Amino acid sequence: MTTAANPQMPPRLLMGPGPINAHPRVLQAMSMQLVGQFDPSMTAAMNETMALYRDVFRTDNEHTLLVDGTSRAGIEAALVSLLEPGDRVLVPVFGRFGHLLVEIAERCGAEVHTVEVPWGEVVPDDAVEDAVRRVRPRLVAAVQGDTSTTMCQPLAGIGEICRREGVLLYVDATASLGGNPFETDAWGIDVASAGLQKCLGGPSGSAPITLGPRAVEVIEGRKHVEAGLRTDDDRSRGTRIASNYLDLAQVMDYWGQRRLNHHTEATTMLYGARACAQVLLDEGLEASIERHRLHGAAMLEGVRGLGLEVFGDVEHKMTNVVAVHIPDGVDGDAARTAMLEDFGIEIGTSFGPLHGRVWRIGTMGWNARRDAVLTTLAALEAVLRAAGVPVTAGGGTGAAREVYA
Ligand SMILES: *Cc1c(COP(=O)(O)O)cnc(C)c1O
Repeated sequence: MTTAANPQMPPRLLMGPGPINAHPRVLQAMSMQLVGQFDPSMTAAMNETMALYRDVFRTDNEHTLLVDGTSRAGIEAALVSLLEPGDRVLVPVFGRFGHLLVEIAERCGAEVHTVEVPWGEVVPDDAVEDAVRRVRPRLVAAVQGDTSTTMCQPLAGIGEICRREGVLLYVDATASLGGNPFETDAWGIDVASAGLQKCLGGPSGSAPITLGPRAVEVIEGRKHVEAGLRTDDDRSRGTRIASNYLDLAQVMDYWGQRRLNHHTEATTMLYGARACAQVLLDEGLEASIERHRLHGAAMLEGVRGLGLEVFGDVEHKMTNVVAVHIPDGVDGDAARTAMLEDFGIEIGTSFGPLHGRVWRIGTMGWNARRDAVLTTLAALEAVLRAAGVPVTAGGGTGAAREVYA
């Protein structure tokens, strides 16, 4: 029997709503040798990673760290650590990931209330304010950018409402962080979490999270250090957090001075997460957001130049992804297959009410680049023409190049 050593994956240009191609510096960092869990170089790398992500999240929060696992590990860690059975939670729902927050909060035993708008819109501040006054939740849990609809929920007003009403605010910024403005401290956000596979230009598998003082107080009030690690000074208090792995009280002690021996850090993912933040901050957060804005605008004008109709409220669209209606008579999945097989380019399908109706095209992280945008538009033109759509020759790339001019 023969086995291929290190089989290669096909070269792909990933222009969907995430994951995207990882930045070469991130891949390089992830090929570094391992060190021991409490090696001084490892704890130094952990501290450095915390400092980098404070800048990425725009916060002074001491407790800014990585949860091991994909983005939803960060979401679950936040919700399971903050919520006790019976707590009231309010979720503004404007797409699939709002429903995910509802689902996770319900699994935590919370009483979940929602304010919903149709897909393609964002939730107005006054609707959130009315609901907060009516429901009196302990926590508002919101998504910033929902890739299912491409919408970017304004958060400054919601943060202000939460501060005024004494409500905690959690935000899932996975899709938007690094490519759209995000202000943890200035917007009054208590906990925010993300993932690497969108604008941060890394692989999925690590969830950066930041926790402000009000959230830390709630979570520390539920600290139960596990037997075998517990010392005489550890008094268990409050309702025990229902997950061990995602118990942020213990995870904070693992990343903090105490270096509590909780889990074995996913070292290679830490190298990758650290490199994502370094790449981003070397470019500059403002510059990265501007780059996402520019290439997102080029893609938007490009798809319009191909005669495609853009889905949703474009004023509230994230910079880094656009949804376009699949033209009548075109088989959306067959067109995506042609993009992949003939051009090596992946674009996204959709789910829920948009399934079969729109494609989602991303310009994020390392792939928010002119060549990636123009190549994708050129390929899409060819695929549309082959499917019988009367597209203007060079209409997509021409419109995008005007944005760049
Ligand atoms: C893409 C995305 C995620 C991804 O979660 P994973 O666990 O990494 O698959 C989560 N939240 C939002 C808002 C997203 O857009």
